[in-house]
Amino acid sequence: MDGQLTEFQRALEAGVRQFVQQEVIPSASRFEHADEYPQPLVDRMKELGYFGALVPEAYGGAGMDAMGLVILTEELARGWMSLTGVIGSHSMVAWMLNRFGNEDQRREWLPRMARGEMRCGIGITEADGGSDVAALRTSARREGTGYIVNGSKMFITNSEKGTHFGVMVRTNPAADKPHRGISCLLMGRDLPGFRVSRHLDKLGYKGVRTGELVFENCAVPASCLIGEENRGFQQLMASLEMGRIQVASRALGIHRACFEDSVRYAQQRRTMGKPIAEHQAIQIKLADMATSLEAARQLTYHAARLKDSGRRCDLEAGMAKLFATDAAQRASEWAIHIHGGYGYIKELPIERYYRDAILLQVGEGTNDIQRLVIARRLVEKHPAS
Ligand SMILES: Cc1cc2nc3c(=O)[nH]c(=O)nc-3n(C[C@H](O)[C@H](O)[C@H](O)COP(=O)(O)OP(=O)(O)OC[C@H]3O[C@@H](n4cnc5c(N)ncnc54)[C@H](O)[C@@H]3O)c2cc1C
Repeated sequence: MDGQLTEFQRALEAGVRQFVQQEVIPSASRFEHADEYPQPLVDRMKELGYFGALVPEAYGGAGMDAMGLVILTEELARGWMSLTGVIGSHSMVAWMLNRFGNEDQRREWLPRMARGEMRCGIGITEADGGSDVAALRTSARREGTGYIVNGSKMFITNSEKGTHFGVMVRTNPAADKPHRGISCLLMGRDLPGFRVSRHLDKLGYKGVRTGELVFENCAVPASCLIGEENRGFQQLMASLEMGRIQVASRALGIHRACFEDSVRYAQQRRTMGKPIAEHQAIQIKLADMATSLEAARQLTYHAARLKDSGRRCDLEAGMAKLFATDAAQRASEWAIHIHGGYGYIKELPIERYYRDAILLQVGEGTNDIQRLVIARRLVEKHPAS
């Protein structure tokens, strides 16, 4: 609904929308209710080149920018949010690798990532805490030409299906500030000492696998270090701008699903002699849903365009993530109310939107953490003297 989309962006939107309408929406509920990994849809996403979204064309990818990722993500999430999990952290790793990796690493990994042969996840969170990233404890001790990694990562998306993980590790426990001793290693799951210790069952976000990764004296070659040693925290913060824009786009997709399904249902369902769309209580919900969707879209597009201009956008990405995910969660509640009893029944996807939307307020930094990021940046931008 943005008049400023380029021809490429409009074609991308139309292409993904067609895939979602024809292939995702008809099968999403079947996979989701069985909590089954949607292998046929993942295979199609490979064919369609979605795994290479953020991989430059020079390495065989689609060479999309943040706006491209927003469009792709919103359209997929309109059909089923879990599909955005399969390519979400994969795309974050591709972005980090392209931005901070060296040429040898780009040449070795990016083409395989674009083809979806190499499928990535990202390991930041630990069982003891996710919000305080600087306090992470997984250690990587220098030994010979590489590292010995010990520790674990919790709630990791693509745990069972990923072949490689961008893992945040502590390389300098003696650093003057904790965030200065962190690095990023790209770890293959076939490394001895690397295992997925358990699968975690969830409220929503079904089908996509979430688990715990454990590293026991896992030897990692130094060639797997992404970017500079002990600069991982700064690299991660830059990647999280992209990550938060991507999560805001997932929220746009769920929010749009809630609105589109509700506005249709409200015209079909009749009570007291007329369609419920003619009752003011329903009209107010539809109006608020559409208005908050438009506001969320403007914030998300603004953050993406800033990112694409090369400017810092932690404030804008944080605002987009906070607003869009809160708005989607509220919209999913209203969608249930508009659908009455049917909203709560698994025959319709409405209850799924509700179970999926709430995750977006937690993942990629909880919404209260976004508020802290936003406030910190506001104080920086508006000094008292
Ligand atoms: C389905 C799912 C998939 C995920 N996928 C991944 C993944 O692929 N990779 C990955 O690394 N992580 C992943 N996560 C982890 C997710 O990013 C974390 O759950 C999230 O960042 C919160 O961390 P936590 O769960 O440790 O909560 P905590 O950090 O323990 O926070 C608990 C509560 O305290 C609040 N809080 C904490 N600190 C503060 C503070 N300073 N001020 C105010 N309030 C505060 C939080 O807002 C929250 O409400 C996933 C999580 C889920 C549920």
